[in-house]
Amino acid sequence: MEVSSGTTVWNDCLEVIRENVGEENFNTWFKPIAPLRVDGDVLTIQVPSQFFYEWLEDNYVPVLKKAIHTVLGPTGRLEYSVVVDSGDKQTPPVSVSYPVNGAGNRRSAVNGSFGNDDYSPFTYKALNPQTVNSRLNTTYTFDNFVEGDCNRLARSAGLAVAKKPGVTSFNPLMLYGGVGVGKTHLVQAIGNEIKNVMPSKVVLYIDQNDFTTQFLNALQNHKVQEFQNFYLQVDLLILDDVQFLAGREKTQEMFFHIFNQLHQSGKQIIMTSDCPPRDMKGFQERLLSRFKWGLTADLQEPDFETKLAIINRKMLADGIQIPTEVSEYLAYSVDTNLRDMEGVLNSLIFHATLLKKEIDLDLAKEVLKNIIKEIQSDVSVDFIQKTVAEYFKVDLEAMKGKVKKREIVIPRQVAMYFCKRYTQLTLALIGENFGGRDHSTVIHALESVEDMMKTDPNFKASVEELGKKLKLRVS
Ligand code: ADP
Ligand code: MG
Repeated sequence: MEVSSGTTVWNDCLEVIRENVGEENFNTWFKPIAPLRVDGDVLTIQVPSQFFYEWLEDNYVPVLKKAIHTVLGPTGRLEYSVVVDSGDKQTPPVSVSYPVNGAGNRRSAVNGSFGNDDYSPFTYKALNPQTVNSRLNTTYTFDNFVEGDCNRLARSAGLAVAKKPGVTSFNPLMLYGGVGVGKTHLVQAIGNEIKNVMPSKVVLYIDQNDFTTQFLNALQNHKVQEFQNFYLQVDLLILDDVQFLAGREKTQEMFFHIFNQLHQSGKQIIMTSDCPPRDMKGFQERLLSRFKWGLTADLQEPDFETKLAIINRKMLADGIQIPTEVSEYLAYSVDTNLRDMEGVLNSLIFHATLLKKEIDLDLAKEVLKNIIKEIQSDVSVDFIQKTVAEYFKVDLEAMKGKVKKREIVIPRQVAMYFCKRYTQLTLALIGENFGGRDHSTVIHALESVEDMMKTDPNFKASVEELGKKLKLRVS
């Protein structure tokens, strides 16, 4: 066992790999690998988990081959040693070696592989439904969810599921609709109801973002097994904003397996999305077809009556009386979405308590006038750039600069688009604000954004949501 030469060979391989994968992938997938030995032209590396090995095989075989061939010559081979951390320090690690042959026959080489539907857990720590953090917000209930034409089907499906989770044919229950129509409120109400009435059920609410983050952390810390085990013990799984799983292939794969296992054992799954499964882009077909197994119901923008009822309910809950003419005025005037309405109502309550004024039509108009004035007045370039960069989670300076990567270029184009729409700047001046580009680049950006909005409903929804954020100055 020549550890030192193994290390040298592996370090040389890493040089090649580093040039072929991005920094982030390099850190995630190659840093945790330890070289074990070199035996002739075979390099053995140790990877931290089964899943890790499969990921490498699925995604990095060409890169690994290139590295091995560069360093060890054309006959060079790679073997893996998978060390499964059982969480129990007493038992020795399980170690399996096999050659890298490409992704072809790996399933057969592996026992109890994740990726196999007959997944068998290694470690199993039973969850206690009383103490497990359901991540539910208890303020979202059926009681304070106002029923209207816009949400009737979704609400009654939700009630049915809350009465008999996993038993109705509404499994999965997929609720979809635009921003602020009450998706999160409704699915949390289902969760809260089940938790209250059936305390032995393990209920879990999670939004896509947290799910993905947890999963990536699990990968990095070699806890994928624990991650899976945890989710497989849930009786009701609520995954909010599933549309953002688009393009995240590995997270989708993980969710696919969790979904299958839960569904097979009669556990309830609820999801929300901003559009129906048939319009969802960037999803594996097999996952989309699962989404359609149960019931898909939409929530529409609330009509006037429903808005009115929601306003009254909210004010009542805060112990505030509000004249009918005021609530009617608000229901007419705030026509973006319910989340904005919530902002307006809070602002109104704040003014009323701060200025110790009765809430009357004059106060409502004054409050709204300020907000409307904000909506109408110019938004600054800085604010647009900052808001857009935050929204797409890209580096602000990179977005304003010259970087040509697609993940930076699109936010940059979107920011230019809003500069054109929301400021008085000329095309040349807009270009000036983005690393001194000329006006034809700005025209090109505007055109691409408009094209993408026509062809990609997800993108369109994002741009619209951003537009509202900018208008209301809530970044
Ligand atoms: P979504 O998840 O669809 O974007 P939310 O569930 O976050 O929307 O709803 C936005 C706000 O509007 C929340 O404060 C929510 O409580 C409120 N809301 C939405 N629909 C209703 C309703 N039917 N009854 C009462 N409040 C509602
Ligand atoms: Mg939501």
